[in-house]
Amino acid sequence: MGDDDDAAAGAGAQTGVDEALAPLLAPGARLEHLVGGSTWTEGPVWLPDEGNGGVVRFSDIPGDRILFFEPATGASGVHRSGVEHTNGRARWPGGGVVQCSHGLRRVELEQTGPDGEPVVTELVSSYRGARLNSPNDVVVDAAGSVWFTDPTYGLFQPGEGHPGEREYGGCHVFRLDPDGQLEAVATDFEQPNGLAFSPDEARLYVADTGVISDRAGDSAHHVRAFDVVVGDDGRRHLTGGAVLHVCERGVVDGFRVDAEGRLWCSSEDAVLVLAPSGALLGRIAVPEKVSNACFGPDNASGGQDLYVTASTSLYRIATAVRSAEPR
Ligand code: MG
Repeated sequence: MGDDDDAAAGAGAQTGVDEALAPLLAPGARLEHLVGGSTWTEGPVWLPDEGNGGVVRFSDIPGDRILFFEPATGASGVHRSGVEHTNGRARWPGGGVVQCSHGLRRVELEQTGPDGEPVVTELVSSYRGARLNSPNDVVVDAAGSVWFTDPTYGLFQPGEGHPGEREYGGCHVFRLDPDGQLEAVATDFEQPNGLAFSPDEARLYVADTGVISDRAGDSAHHVRAFDVVVGDDGRRHLTGGAVLHVCERGVVDGFRVDAEGRLWCSSEDAVLVLAPSGALLGRIAVPEKVSNACFGPDNASGGQDLYVTASTSLYRIATAVRSAEPR
């Protein structure tokens, strides 16, 4: 082996995939580095109708910009800058993207105006008259309700928002219904973070990353599973909330669910794939700290590619599974 081969072998060792995951990945799948140069990437979403055949849009939170990667051409660049430190995002059923703004302490909707320019409007910024903390991640259910988490990272993490105080006294998980009603659906989190539904939307998984801001040994670094129930008021509420999985290294920040109900989770040094039971099925090693992931376009294996935001970069690996999210 020459030096180049040794270097390649070293890189392979860094980006290894547990053998147990082979059935869930495209044959020979390896993690690819696609885009670097950010400070802390987060909030990836696949937008099949944008650009040339679709784009992955993602945040560089401290860089205060929204970036894109276009799989069909390999092009990447800045979608918008000066965006008030956006974080997580999801497709909006009516067209566009719902996203979390740390800087404006709100959840907002970004759509394309008639002249092709972005039009950004507020969906919600306060709860019972008090400002939200710094909405972090968001999902939209089949009925058009927006579920989001509201930890405090944007109030104290350098470069991730603006210094500020908690105003309503907690860090809640919220549901915003299409009629504008906002309700706290879980109020016992240290720092709620990533969230995603099971394929039938009967369960909502929510990560708690309390250990990031409170390094006490018993602070949260886990994913909880809630049952979604319809109340007498006809609105959806959460019950249960048992811990599904404790993350051994780092935290589960953001994650996505596939059509079989598995969770594809960020962690300190890998993407973790969890069974619906919470059992760890395997790890995809990543050479930077992983923040989040999303499924992208179809690949030749019949599955969808998984895009991974990790520290400075965007990565990709070809899977053999389908996303739980509608196309
Ligand atoms: Mg997050």
